[in-house]
Amino acid sequence: MTGLLAHLRRRIALEGPLTVARYMEECLGNPAHGYYMTRDPLGAAGDFTTAPEISQMFGELIGLWAAVQWQAMGAPDSVHLVELGPGRGTLMADALRAVATVAPFRAAVQVHLVETSPVLRDRQRETLAAAHPGVTPQWWNDLSQVPAGPALVIANEFFDALPIRQFLRGPDGWRERLVAWDADAAALAFVLSGAQATSPLIPPPLNQAPEGSLIEICPVGLRKAHTLAARLAAQGGAALIVDYGHDRSAPGDTLQAVKDHQYADVLIDPGAADLTAHVDFQQLAQTCIQAGSVTFGPIGQGDFLIALGIGARVQALTAQADDRQKAAIDAAFTRLTGAGQMGRLFRVLAVQHPGLPAPPGFE
Ligand code: SAH
Repeated sequence: MTGLLAHLRRRIALEGPLTVARYMEECLGNPAHGYYMTRDPLGAAGDFTTAPEISQMFGELIGLWAAVQWQAMGAPDSVHLVELGPGRGTLMADALRAVATVAPFRAAVQVHLVETSPVLRDRQRETLAAAHPGVTPQWWNDLSQVPAGPALVIANEFFDALPIRQFLRGPDGWRERLVAWDADAAALAFVLSGAQATSPLIPPPLNQAPEGSLIEICPVGLRKAHTLAARLAAQGGAALIVDYGHDRSAPGDTLQAVKDHQYADVLIDPGAADLTAHVDFQQLAQTCIQAGSVTFGPIGQGDFLIALGIGARVQALTAQADDRQKAAIDAAFTRLTGAGQMGRLFRVLAVQHPGLPAPPGFE
């Protein structure tokens, strides 16, 4: 039995079945055994590959997006460039390189990385020290710790890693899906709560879902979105949230485990696979609006990157490339923008101070 499985079994024996959110939190963030706390999961040799790891073009275009937004903000002397869940630091390194020529922006930027994993903090430190020795990033566990002031905030595949709760509509109302210990099978198993879930937990329009529907909410994600949007509304700035998910709230079980680039069983070998859920962009955007920001999108990642000029970046890069490199650049372009690949499933939401014009890519 793995260390985390033994720990979960003890915890369930003491407290009873865990919510899916507690289970996800343990699997991803347990200080000793959590998935992100113990490894660098990214890239071909890891479990999954993200857009910045596919191509430098992704981070470069987002860097230019941030520079244009800074100009729209009135080019403040100082701006916090914040990334939530920066992985290996690749996006930030590519973004800073792309804006090197926008000297006043580079001079204004202070880099902040919001990261809970010690392993990935080390990776980010290495990546940025190698690419940008002059930059002195600061690390935080939570956005609320980033010093006050105007901010440009990037979150790629961050919200999908935050813990969700799941509820099933039965004949007599909503019950929460929980993770229990099945002694006969000597394994973790899903069960339903005995007590009915109280209605404020189930947001409209999901509370109208028919019997048999499973719905998801991400209270931690919504709380973080609220902190972000309230900050942008009060202190100025803009954020870009990129993730896989749906534009409208809808029932469906999207909790998934991925290991070695393959789907795995969510309950088997906890802590050894990445656990994610689709982001409900409708709930996310509503929360941001309630907190005083305005939102644009979500739009498909493909449309977003094309509007930002990824086509011209492909041409510029292929002009200096050999045949093998050209093929790799073309393949990356298709992976990032193709409708059957990341282009449509991945959505891009901009959140910003109400005084700013429509952001690049959303005009
Ligand atoms: N943005 C990167 C990595 C995505 S993986 C990329 O696109 O390649 C998710 C990232 O979020 C990891 O860096 C993980 O350690 C971090 N993370 C997960 N939960 C977090 C939390 N609650 N607070 C801060 N960072 C978190």
